[in-house]
Amino acid sequence: MTTVAAYAAPAAKAPLERTTIERREVGEHDVSIDIRFAGICHTDIHQVREGWGDAIFPMVPGHEIAGVVSEVGPGVTRFAVGDRVGVGCMVDSCRECDHCRAGREQYCDSGMTDTYNALDRNGQPTYGGYARRIVVDENYVLRIPDSLGLDVAAPLLCAGITTYSPLRRWGAGPGTKVAILGMGGLGHMGVKIAHALGAEVTVLSQSLRKRDDGLKMGADHYYATADPKTFDELRGTFDLIVSTVSAPLNLDSYLSLLRPEGTLANVGAPEEPVSLNLFSVIGGGRGLAGSMIGGIAETQEMLDFCAGHGIGAEIELIAADGINEAYERVMSSDVRYRFVIDTATI
Ligand SMILES: [Zn+2]
Ligand SMILES: [Zn+2]
Repeated sequence: MTTVAAYAAPAAKAPLERTTIERREVGEHDVSIDIRFAGICHTDIHQVREGWGDAIFPMVPGHEIAGVVSEVGPGVTRFAVGDRVGVGCMVDSCRECDHCRAGREQYCDSGMTDTYNALDRNGQPTYGGYARRIVVDENYVLRIPDSLGLDVAAPLLCAGITTYSPLRRWGAGPGTKVAILGMGGLGHMGVKIAHALGAEVTVLSQSLRKRDDGLKMGADHYYATADPKTFDELRGTFDLIVSTVSAPLNLDSYLSLLRPEGTLANVGAPEEPVSLNLFSVIGGGRGLAGSMIGGIAETQEMLDFCAGHGIGAEIELIAADGINEAYERVMSSDVRYRFVIDTATI
């Protein structure tokens, strides 16, 4: 075991504080990564505050990890010391079920191993990216292309793939009309990626406050959902809506914005169950769907796509002692658009 400096929540809802954790020794197929940057995802806050159920403490959050390989195990074939790499939301899966074999490890039959707040396949707790170092099996490590800064690449490992995967799955591209619902950490990545894929992109945000940013990032249109006229004007418009919102929504209203056979894909999750009138999907054969991150191969495809289109996240770089304040600002939607921790300050 190696002792590593980290930031952890000692208990549910407690502020994060500097501490140390133990990382496993580098095994046959492991890569040791000097973490340089770690994004702050809304999920980190849900988990630390146990918004999604019981959690494991102390908790080192962080599943938007970018760094440099510092050591490799003897069986590692894909990475070498000095490589620029990333780790996202999972660090393992069963590798044998149909989903794992098909490259959709996030839907592994026995459950993927989350990067933090989980037990690994040996029953040891996993600790995430708010730390100086992490050890991960090479099959769950991504390569970050040279043209992407590690700081703006970190958020791609969750926010990037979470929006890229549904945009690809439901065919965003030239000739399609795509709406991105919510203009936060996920939403701003959705706008950039949907635009780069060639879709006509509309942002649906509560207000027009971030309109200039959205248009700069590639949106063609920008509407306020607080304005009831928006729903009249856009009725039956979109082939695909990707909802990044984690507040409860009036699903019937949003489904009415879809063309027949269009899809509303959810990547944001409210803590409470939602309800809808099923005629909203029966009429027009519309789809209500969900999507969770993406597989390892698709995550690499997303990183290469983003590098090819010059797409990184819009970030506010912070020192580790600013994490707790950053959480408060995320909760009040006061971030443009992703906080990234400079892990040298841990
Ligand atoms: Zn995330
Ligand atoms: Zn599996």
